[in-house]
Amino acid sequence: MSNPSGISLDPWFENYAERASGLTASEVRALFAVANRPEVVSLAGGMPFVAALPFDNVTKTVQRVLGTSGPQALQYGSGQGLPELREHIMSIMALEGIRAGVDDIVVTTGSQQGLDLISKLFINPGDAILAESPSYVGAMGVFRSYQARVEHVAMDDDGMIPQSLREHIANLRALKVPIKFLYLIPNFQNPAGVTLSAARRLEILDIAQAEGILVVEDNPYGLLWFDRPPPHAIRSADESGVIYLGSFSKTFAPGLRVGWVVAPHGIREKLVLASEAAILSPSSFSQMILAEYFESHDWKGQIDTFRGLYRERRDAMVEALAQYAPEIPHTTPTGGFYLWLSLPEGLDSKEMLPRAVKELVAYTPGTAFYANGDGRANLRLAFCYPEPSFIEEGIKRLSRVIAEELELLETFGPTNTSVSASLDAPPPEVT
Ligand code: PMP
Repeated sequence: MSNPSGISLDPWFENYAERASGLTASEVRALFAVANRPEVVSLAGGMPFVAALPFDNVTKTVQRVLGTSGPQALQYGSGQGLPELREHIMSIMALEGIRAGVDDIVVTTGSQQGLDLISKLFINPGDAILAESPSYVGAMGVFRSYQARVEHVAMDDDGMIPQSLREHIANLRALKVPIKFLYLIPNFQNPAGVTLSAARRLEILDIAQAEGILVVEDNPYGLLWFDRPPPHAIRSADESGVIYLGSFSKTFAPGLRVGWVVAPHGIREKLVLASEAAILSPSSFSQMILAEYFESHDWKGQIDTFRGLYRERRDAMVEALAQYAPEIPHTTPTGGFYLWLSLPEGLDSKEMLPRAVKELVAYTPGTAFYANGDGRANLRLAFCYPEPSFIEEGIKRLSRVIAEELELLETFGPTNTSVSASLDAPPPEVT
């Protein structure tokens, strides 16, 4: 890759495939390294609060797996995933209205690998992917690495706006750009925290079906609702036109790296082949730990614990915003990890980040969640990881930074002091 002066520091630079140019490092990685220091309240990372897991039980589970099926647990496994775990996945998905057979499920190394495999199967350079506006940074990274053109469809508090979807489709059709799929995070969206309404789920599905567009439904947060469950999954209304992605990262632990994909028959067969080509088989050990955990523990009770914990943190953040920054609009999520904040006119979330980190608070600039450079007027706050008292302190510091930036803006007008912090590929703990 080349440095800012254009001189390549990598002797192999000329040899890379074209798609490697989509793999850009973040200039704010260093800032986030600072943000991980204990004195900084980080509202940037989307890290699940795994410390709330019953560690004694988890330890016993791991010991039991090794004691009873050690050699198998440390061996290669099926490319499609452990059948016992796929049985459990069926009952987990039933909670969101999805009926699927064990054979419809492909276990992946996190749902991130599912996104990569789907992209590998469908995207040619220049193909269009329709996504929410804003959308998940990790998905944007994958789509970019396959040289897709991401079209951001407008969203409001009820999720993606069907009319905006119709317009984007019409524009792309007029330009003769192939549309490969519609990528949606219907529940407690990352990063905006909004949930797609039941009526819009059906309307959007109708549009996709009428236009022959495949839907990719990414649902890592659906079970983490605070007051009432979200509407049923889109997949529950269409088994032939929807690929569904699930994950154990938020309801158990991301360190095991286990997710899954449910896909229409033909796509599922290709996915298994693509996954075997990429990784041979997902981790047998992780899958056996999960299967044993679901067999012997009150996993639904554990999800309730997570819900209570994240609800308390959401409340702490919303209350602190009402107290310290009452003028600033933000979404109020009813589940998940994130809230989306709109800055006062003239402020820039990318430019403000170094000052915020200096004031010992970190967030993720809105630009990370757009493939087209938009998002400067917004930022994402994650309430999943810090204790409520730290969340309050973080919001207090952030509101001070915003007030100071506004004062500077009023005194000196817009400046060009940007550190041009790019969040093209933030460190993994930010996603
Ligand atoms: N999709 C979304 C919307 C996410 O927020 C994340 C993680 N932050 C993922 C997919 C990837 O999750 P994992 O690979 O850990 O299952």
